Amino acid sequence: MAIGTIQKLNNFVNGQWIPASSDKYEPVFNPATGEVIAEVPLSSREDLNQAVQVAEIAFQTWSKTPVPNRTRILFRYIHLLTQHAEELAETIVREHGKNLKDARGEVQRGIESVEAATATPMMMMGQALPEIANEIEGTTYRYPLGVVAGITPFNFPMMVPLWIFPVAIACGNTFILKPSERTPLLAQRLVELMVEAGLPSGVLNLVHGAHEIVNGILEHKTIKAVSFVGSQPVAQHVYTTGCAHGKRVQALAGAKNHAIVMPDCNLEKTVQGIILAAFGSSGERCMATSVVAVVDEIADEFIELLVSESEKLVVGDGLDPDTFISPLIRESHRQRVIGLVESGEAEQAKLLLDGRIAIQKHPNGYFLGATIFDHVTPDMRIWKEEIFAPVLSIVRIKDLDEGIALTNQSQFANGAIIYTSSGEHMRYFRENIDAGMIGINVNVPAPMALFTFAGNKDSFYGDLGTNGMDGVLFFTRKKMVTSRWF
Ligand code: NAD
Repeated sequence: MAIGTIQKLNNFVNGQWIPASSDKYEPVFNPATGEVIAEVPLSSREDLNQAVQVAEIAFQTWSKTPVPNRTRILFRYIHLLTQHAEELAETIVREHGKNLKDARGEVQRGIESVEAATATPMMMMGQALPEIANEIEGTTYRYPLGVVAGITPFNFPMMVPLWIFPVAIACGNTFILKPSERTPLLAQRLVELMVEAGLPSGVLNLVHGAHEIVNGILEHKTIKAVSFVGSQPVAQHVYTTGCAHGKRVQALAGAKNHAIVMPDCNLEKTVQGIILAAFGSSGERCMATSVVAVVDEIADEFIELLVSESEKLVVGDGLDPDTFISPLIRESHRQRVIGLVESGEAEQAKLLLDGRIAIQKHPNGYFLGATIFDHVTPDMRIWKEEIFAPVLSIVRIKDLDEGIALTNQSQFANGAIIYTSSGEHMRYFRENIDAGMIGINVNVPAPMALFTFAGNKDSFYGDLGTNGMDGVLFFTRKKMVTSRWF
């Protein structure tokens, strides 16, 4: 339904797009222009209950559908996602703001997660041991859980939902998706294309909304498992509340990723890598590099090159091919980031590059240019807190041990990178750093979808991560059979 030119979004339940019962809507903005591009419903618990009921019924047949038939739909889905890749990337730019190159990268990463989920028939296989005792054999079988849910963040509107629902569905579960209310348009397209791929009604349902639906999911008796990706406080709430209601929960949370730059690194490639990891997607990535610890010996040379290259980054609308730094998601987020930049100045960090100058040049969107602080220390807010914006802190260190000790003080432990040409440094770093995902001379150490994705400490609550074998283990339960035949 459209009022004027603004589209009101619907929920998707039992194969139908239906309006939410609630009359509360929230605007969806194009962050580059501040223009309202759609209205998303804040659905009620009644809407959620209806979707769960439908999913529960669909589970009866879907869970008994042969596994290869379930994954065959994913092969058609990959084909459709690939066919529509450019349209999907443009939708991401419109509702998220990131530049077209980053959006295309996200589309590709999303497709790779579906490709990995097509291996479910093999990953779901059980185990057998014929002679576990005299004439006795032991076997393990894996089964879907039932109705499961995914709650996703704004920053990867395509990739994160595709980390979760294809593998959950391939395992035989039926699904409720609650996408971010700030980027709901891409989620709609993901569902539409899944229907076009041949997914039966009721298997995948989409309920728009915010915290009310999240809490409804966490408290719902029928929902067996919840996969959450979002900020740290919400992840902790989702994990504790979901577990208290007897659910299996994986909650991937916020981050503060550190890089260590050693004197034996390739300086130019290191600077390029750090710029891509810190300022790509405007720093709105859970794997964005946020702190660089650089050894004193090369600190001045490194910083000079980093600042001069960062000054050249073009700020603008993500659809403009020259744009590197795109807008932040909302004005409220920009205000929080500006507050953090001010705290850095007040706490005596040295501001080398001030992204606030981009604000006057781009009065309509939520822009902020690349910002770099030097002489940052671990007691400062800009060192401790996730900023989620193109703001980079530099810490000067005397050696690798100091860099590792500092990094390991962080509340978070999602990703960490070392830039070095020494195998000895690389190994020492790998063995001593506390992070779930480690990079050696790469830009962003996000694992490919065949591997599991998850951090440590307050960056992750749960046991099994998303993607890879963990995805299948999370969305299935086991039966052990011990048998003797006379
Ligand atoms: P967010 O926590 O604000 O929102 C995530 C989801 O939770 C949304 O669907 C939202 O509707 C819901 N939500 C928000 N507030 C809630 C509340 N009070 N109660 C219940 N539900 C609530 O996160 P975001 O801003 O959309 O996403 C950015 C965050 O996600 C960053 O912190 C980023 O690091 C993190 N993230 C982590 C990973 C990872 O793999 N660890 C990946 C992507 C993003």
